[in-house]
Amino acid sequence: MQEKLLKSLVEDLTGSDSGILVDLLFNKKDVNEFLIAKKMKLTINQVRNILYKLSAEGLVSFIRKKDNRKGWYIYFWTLNTEKCLIRLEAELTKKISELENQLRSREQKRYYFCSSCGVEVTEETALENDFSCSECAEVYSLSSNEGQIKDITNKIKTKERELKLIQIELASVKDKQAKKRAVNETKLKNKKKKERELKKKQNTKKPKDSKISKNVSKKKNKR
Ligand SMILES: [Zn+2]
Repeated sequence: MQEKLLKSLVEDLTGSDSGILVDLLFNKKDVNEFLIAKKMKLTINQVRNILYKLSAEGLVSFIRKKDNRKGWYIYFWTLNTEKCLIRLEAELTKKISELENQLRSREQKRYYFCSSCGVEVTEETALENDFSCSECAEVYSLSSNEGQIKDITNKIKTKERELKLIQIELASVKDKQAKKRAVNETKLKNKKKKERELKKKQNTKKPKDSKISKNVSKKKNKR
């Protein structure tokens, strides 16, 4: 799993230094919230608030058990790997498309900047202001798009690499689950087959009884 990407996703969604959660939940099941709180140096309520946000996004799930001695509920949390990967895939796809839009506009449009204010404006804005800065009246210079284009292109490449890794992992998670389902279905089929065979055996043991009861019901219907 691309844990680094997942950490930044978790931090984006919960808006805090919650990336450590990924370390605590990754590849584990039903992690006690008291352990999480201790490791994160937060109160139970703070931890639950963060986890509820992730749960609303479907990225974690919980079970709760009543602590019989203390009389309150304890929550145990599990990371939903498949949902996390799907979410990461969506976020990366969105980001790449945003960067591609930026790249297109750098390739097609002109930008101007004021070197004393360090502000860049679009050609439309520069035109409106007669090509001099609205703040300091200095004449705008034409921005060089080359650096920007190089920069954005590199960012797109990085995001595309990340996306590919996520998609490979997602495919392997789905594959594992499909295999698991297939095994369970075979088990279920075999169980049903056994049940059918058992019934057949039981039915062949007393064929006379069933015929008699059928005849009786037919006679009843005729009247
Ligand atoms: Zn200026």
